Amino acid sequence: MSIAMLPDPPSRPERSFEIVARRITAMIQASYGIGQRLPAERDLAKTFGVSRPTVREAILSLAMAGMLKVRSNSGVYVISRQETPDVHALEGFGPFENLEARQLIEPQIAAIAAQRASETSFAQLAEALAMMRWEHAQGREADTSDHRFHVVLAEATGNGTLVSICDSLWRAQTESGIWQEIHNHMQMEDYRPMWVRDHEAIFEAVQARNPRKASHAMTRHLNNIRDALMVASNAKSMAAPKSSTNSAKKTR
Ligand SMILES: [Zn+2]
Repeated sequence: MSIAMLPDPPSRPERSFEIVARRITAMIQASYGIGQRLPAERDLAKTFGVSRPTVREAILSLAMAGMLKVRSNSGVYVISRQETPDVHALEGFGPFENLEARQLIEPQIAAIAAQRASETSFAQLAEALAMMRWEHAQGREADTSDHRFHVVLAEATGNGTLVSICDSLWRAQTESGIWQEIHNHMQMEDYRPMWVRDHEAIFEAVQARNPRKASHAMTRHLNNIRDALMVASNAKSMAAPKSSTNSAKKTR
């Protein structure tokens, strides 16, 4: 089939947080006034038949649009009853939506890399790890080395399509407005030792040519990121100003 015969690509696909944000907005229009507290996150997840992380993203998007206020140890309150809060303008996919896609793809990448990686790949992975440790030792985030580690792993599969997917998932994460908002509330220094251990475990399994272990290690890494994001985006963390003066922005 030639390109000319393909249907037009879909315009930007609708993000899951946007759909849920719209349903929360309709619910507020129907039965909530200014100052009223919304039901708990787990109840909203049940009502809408979606995961808690998706509800979390929707609530954050509405808070960023000035419609909701997250209060520490108390809950989420309506502060404005806009009919169409501008969550559509938020850049990128929700971080949990993006992580779900990474969970489907990157453990497989790690498994294939364990079978196919060359000595050059091992050296490049070791180099990215060394850079990560050095950046952390300087009290800095390891954006570049972390990105590099995941892309080198994809390159080790020898499949260019996987490299491109891995790279675009990473970029989608960095561009996400909700991701950036959560990171502003994250105590990065608490997580650094775990990020290094996670990547070391992936590296060791790939070097040992153990696909199953490599896949598990990648799954664990992505689960750890998801859990850290859930903690950083809970009501308590989002409502409280970040205590650290660290200017760290991103981690994965
Ligand atoms: Zn990573």
